[in-house]
Amino acid sequence: MRIIEFVSEMQQLADEWRRQGKRIGFVPTMGFLHEGHLALMGEAKRRADVVAVSVFVNPTQFGPNEDFECYPRDMERDIRLCTEVGVDVIFAPRVSEMYPDGYQTSVEVSKVTTPLCGRTRPGHFRGVTTVVAKLFHCVKPHIAIFGQKDYQQWVAVRRMVRDLNMDIEIVSYPTVRESDGLAMSSRNTYLSPAEREIALRLSRSLRAAQELVDRGEIYGEAVLMKVREVLESGGGLRIDYVQLCHPDTLDDVLTVDGCAVLLMAAFIGKTRLIDNCVLRSGN
Ligand code: AMP
Repeated sequence: MRIIEFVSEMQQLADEWRRQGKRIGFVPTMGFLHEGHLALMGEAKRRADVVAVSVFVNPTQFGPNEDFECYPRDMERDIRLCTEVGVDVIFAPRVSEMYPDGYQTSVEVSKVTTPLCGRTRPGHFRGVTTVVAKLFHCVKPHIAIFGQKDYQQWVAVRRMVRDLNMDIEIVSYPTVRESDGLAMSSRNTYLSPAEREIALRLSRSLRAAQELVDRGEIYGEAVLMKVREVLESGGGLRIDYVQLCHPDTLDDVLTVDGCAVLLMAAFIGKTRLIDNCVLRSGN
């Protein structure tokens, strides 16, 4: 497996692969890899001839008071895991390589990035779409895999690709969870054992919502009330948002009519966690 730090070297390899007629699969990450990331890589391997993974903690998607400095990093472990999964190249540029002096261009997707995480984290999605667009120009993939865990991110990237006519297939992969339901996340390492217990309420509340819908409830407010009740039972958790949205537009919806996505973010201590699920009603 190759490890590449420079944009030009990555582009040369991508050109070489394309000359050889290889289909390039890409998984962008911020490293500190877990089973969720590895599942995305497995999917990329199934769908492409060669797989590139980027490991880049992107400063422009963190707010001034967020966790950029202390975001967990372990490059040696990431290299080992990527080797085991059979990744062909890790692209791990330095911040100065991606954002050299004088850098002043960004990519912004407007509407779908406004609600939900966009409200709490202004500028976050501009950072995400900018870095993803830049990484696409480095890796030149035919297909890129994103986790459903970051639902709004996937919607924004898909929108960017359509709007800017990028010739890249965007695939979403289901959220990988711990055996007790907690969605895997590099940020779970911030949680104390007591906080981790509280964090289980996120996935529990999603299951409670689906159960309610399975029993015939279609009114959004009833579902949201149930979710808030599960999340807030016992304290120790502050809801950032809980919303029921249209799966494509992320507009608020009032009923689960066929299909709606339930999205949430919550603070447990200083740690902000997100989770979501697509709710399906019988009708
Ligand atoms: P991150 O390193 O957190 O920026 O995530 C890199 C990619 O992995 C994104 O497409 C995420 O949506 C995806 N991802 C993160 N956690 C999970 C998970 N638990 N299951 C599936 N995909 C995930």
